[in-house]
Amino acid sequence: MQSSNPNTATNTAEVAVIGGGIVGLAIALGLTRNGHQVVVLDESDIALRASQGNFGLVWVQGKGDTLPEYAAISRQSARLWRSLADQLLDSTGIDIQLQQKGGLFFCLTEQELNNRQQMLQQMQQAAGGDYPFQVLDLKQVQELEPEAGPEVAGATLGPEDGHVNPLLFYRAMTEQFLQSGGRIVHSGKTTDIKPLNQGFTVTCHDKGLDQKWHCDKVVLTAGLGNKELAPMVGLHAPVEPNLGQVLISERLKPLLNYPTGHVRQTNEGTIQIGDSKEDVGFITDTRIEVLAQIANRARKMYPVLNKVRLVRTWGALRVMTPDGYPIYQESTRHPGAYVVTCHSGVTLGALHQGPIADWISHNKTELPLEAFNGQRFNG
Ligand SMILES: Cc1cc2nc3c(=O)[nH]c(=O)nc-3n(C[C@H](O)[C@H](O)[C@H](O)COP(=O)(O)OP(=O)(O)OC[C@H]3O[C@@H](n4cnc5c(N)ncnc54)[C@H](O)[C@@H]3O)c2cc1C
Repeated sequence: MQSSNPNTATNTAEVAVIGGGIVGLAIALGLTRNGHQVVVLDESDIALRASQGNFGLVWVQGKGDTLPEYAAISRQSARLWRSLADQLLDSTGIDIQLQQKGGLFFCLTEQELNNRQQMLQQMQQAAGGDYPFQVLDLKQVQELEPEAGPEVAGATLGPEDGHVNPLLFYRAMTEQFLQSGGRIVHSGKTTDIKPLNQGFTVTCHDKGLDQKWHCDKVVLTAGLGNKELAPMVGLHAPVEPNLGQVLISERLKPLLNYPTGHVRQTNEGTIQIGDSKEDVGFITDTRIEVLAQIANRARKMYPVLNKVRLVRTWGALRVMTPDGYPIYQESTRHPGAYVVTCHSGVTLGALHQGPIADWISHNKTELPLEAFNGQRFNG
């Protein structure tokens, strides 16, 4: 289908997925599974990529406290994760290290623990009682996590939570997508999308050259780039960057049994300690004051960390909508154009690869996607 010279002629693909981060790859993989010819058009390594910096949590507890539909789709994704991990292992041989035996959220004061309990109870009510969690006091926490320190007031345990190696996840999806005949083109930035009577022409610009693609459907998965791209096809995706800073320790023997919202031990033995939430624009620098706060909270949770050497720090930008919830929408003005953007691309990875890709393939879904329409931010 592709013409021979990408710089002189219009190339074709049935579906163009714009943005090759974890969101784009998951959608692209699901679309190839459904039999579509898919091209992923990705900017370049200089782009800001949330997918290269994240905490690796497949996290459910507390997600969607003000939007039950978000709680529901996060849980649905968590339930689909095991089969996605198995399928990636079968097809690529890559074990993405998924563990879903539960996750803890540590609270350092009784007040914090009470507030969290109240929030989870409300979520349970909103879910008609079907929302599992437990509230643990310090003694119960230490039975699960012997390294938890005396300053911990308690924790909530979410049995549906887990974690994964996000970089292996990204790599495995890329390999499987390419194996299934998908194409990834480092096309430079997509600068224009023109809706036609039938389909779209996508223009990308790289090193002074334009590259054009004709496609029947276009899916915007460009993370922070979606803000500029969405209006080209009558969509609205007012996403903004939000910086998260993370500390990484030296490799240690297994010390921690469960991931928490702030600290987790990877299969390789490093401990990831996170993370901050700062609206500072397009800046990924780490700052010592913020890192000190993160480290201080973490060593109260696990005093053993006082003796651990930190080997690096990093910052990465979250892709945040004003209310923090995803946008899933097909353009009404230009049907066939979709936007998919969220700040929990790992957790929602299995949903994207499965039911979200199916929605784009078949133009219908059982998912409550009305709640995630980008027009909610208009006015
Ligand atoms: C500190 C931190 C911790 C996190 N922890 C977790 C976690 O534990 N669990 C979880 O689920 N999520 C977590 N996340 C969020 C997760 O990383 C993001 O949801 C996810 O990476 C977003 O993926 P994306 O593909 O939408 O965006 P990106 O990874 O940013 O990918 C977008 C892609 O689009 C391309 N692009 C952009 N503009 C254009 C354009 N105009 N033309 C062509 N290509 C373009 C870029 O090159 C890039 O490759 C975390 C994020 C941060 C920052």
